[in-house]
Amino acid sequence: MRITVVGAGVIGLLTAIECARTAGVDRVDLVDAGPIPSPSATSNDRLRAVRALHRGEPALTSAAVQAQAGWMEIESLVGSRFYHPAGALTAMPTLDVATELALLTAAGAKASALSPEDLASRYPQARFAAGTGAVLEATAGVVLADHALVALARWLGSQARVRLHPHRRAVEVSQNDRVVMIRYADGGSHTADRVVMAAGPWSRELVPAAIASDLTLYRQSMLSYQPPTGRDWARMPTLLGLGPARDAWLMPTVPQSDAPMRLSAASACRPVAEMSDRGTPDQWREHLVGVFSELLPGFDPAAVVDSTDGYYLAERTRGGPLLATYGGGSVLAYAACGGMSFKFAPRIARTIADRAVGTPPSPTGLDSIDRPRQLAAVGEE
Ligand SMILES: Cc1cc2nc3c(=O)[nH]c(=O)nc-3n(C[C@H](O)[C@H](O)[C@H](O)COP(=O)(O)OP(=O)(O)OC[C@H]3O[C@@H](n4cnc5c(N)ncnc54)[C@H](O)[C@@H]3O)c2cc1C
Repeated sequence: MRITVVGAGVIGLLTAIECARTAGVDRVDLVDAGPIPSPSATSNDRLRAVRALHRGEPALTSAAVQAQAGWMEIESLVGSRFYHPAGALTAMPTLDVATELALLTAAGAKASALSPEDLASRYPQARFAAGTGAVLEATAGVVLADHALVALARWLGSQARVRLHPHRRAVEVSQNDRVVMIRYADGGSHTADRVVMAAGPWSRELVPAAIASDLTLYRQSMLSYQPPTGRDWARMPTLLGLGPARDAWLMPTVPQSDAPMRLSAASACRPVAEMSDRGTPDQWREHLVGVFSELLPGFDPAAVVDSTDGYYLAERTRGGPLLATYGGGSVLAYAACGGMSFKFAPRIARTIADRAVGTPPSPTGLDSIDRPRQLAAVGEE
C-alpha cells in the first residue's frame, strides 16, 4: 500500500511515522508546501503545553493523559529529548479543586491539590485572586516543538520506505477508481492508494466545500517574555486558568532551552476571515501586556522580547478538531486542528494511520476524531 501525507506539521509528521511503522505499508510520501519541517507551520513554535486536565471533561482528560505517554514513546523511537514534564498548574475556585483532582486521578494522572496559601508561598511570581486554589499535574509539561519537528523529520528521512517532498504545494486531490491523484502547483502529480491531508490552517484550500464551510479560522497572539529575574521562573510549571476570566496562561522557561516564556489568553484569540502575516497588531500586543501587568507582580513590558500570531481552524459548532473521510475511505482529512491538537498529536496520528491502513482505529477519546465526518465522494458537496 502507498500512502501520501500532505502537510508536515506535527500531525502530518507523526502520521507519516505511524504509517511507516505499520506492516503492509510499502511506501510513505510526505509532502509539504515549504521545507520539512516548515517554519510557517502552526506547530513550528518554541513551546507547546501538554497538560491533561480538561475541566469537567473525563474523556478528554483521559485522552490527554495517554497522549503524554505517547510523547514519551515517540521520544524513544526517534532518539531525541523534547518533552519536559515540568508540570502544569490549573488555577480555579477552591470549591472546584476536589472535583477536578478526582477527575485527573481517575484518568491515571499524578496530581495534587494546592490551597490559596500554597499558591502564595510556592508561586509568588504570579498573582492569584482571593479564594483561588489549584490542581498541579506532575507529569504534564511542555514539548520543545521546533526541536521535536526536526527530530521527527530526521527519523522519517532515515527510513527506506519513506520519501520526503519539501516545496511541493498540493492544489487538488481527485479520485479515479480506488487510486487517489494529487496535483501540485508546479504542474506535477502523483497517485497513492490512500491520502492523508494534514494541512493545518490551510486545509480549507484542499477539502471539499461541504467541509470547508464548516470551519472557522482563528488568530491568536502570544507574547515572548524574558524577565531579568528569569531564574525565578526556571523549573516552574505551566500556569493555566489565570486572571478574572481564568483564561490566561503562561509557559515558563525550560532549563534545556533558550526559549523565552510564552504568555497568552483566550481573550487574545479571535475569528478572522483569512490568514495574513504572523506579526502581532499593536492593539493585541497591548491587550496582552495589560492582562499580564495585572497577573505578574513586577511585570516589565520592556522584557517582552517578541510577539507572534498563530492560526488554527476549528469546527464551527463544537469549536474543536475535525477529521473527515471521503472517497470510500481513500482520503482522510484532518480538516481542523483546533487550539489543542499538539498535545493529542501522538494519539491522533495513530488513529489516522489505522484508518488509512484499514485496521480497527485506536480510539482517541476525542469524539470528532473517533467518529469522523463521512462524505461519499471526493467532490461531494
Ligand atoms: C498561538 C497558538 C498556541 C497554541 N498552543 C498550543 C498548546 O500549548 N498545546 C496544544 O496542544 N496545542 C496548541 N496550539 C494548537 C496546535 O499548535 C495545533 O493544533 C497544531 O500545531 C496543528 O498541527 P497541524 O500539523 O495540524 O498543522 P500545521 O502545523 O500548521 O502544519 C500544516 C502543514 O501543512 C503544510 N501545507 C499547507 N497547505 C499545503 C498544501 N496545499 N500542500 C502541501 N503542504 C501544505 C504547511 O506548510 C504546514 O507545514 C496552539 C495554536 C496556536 C495558534
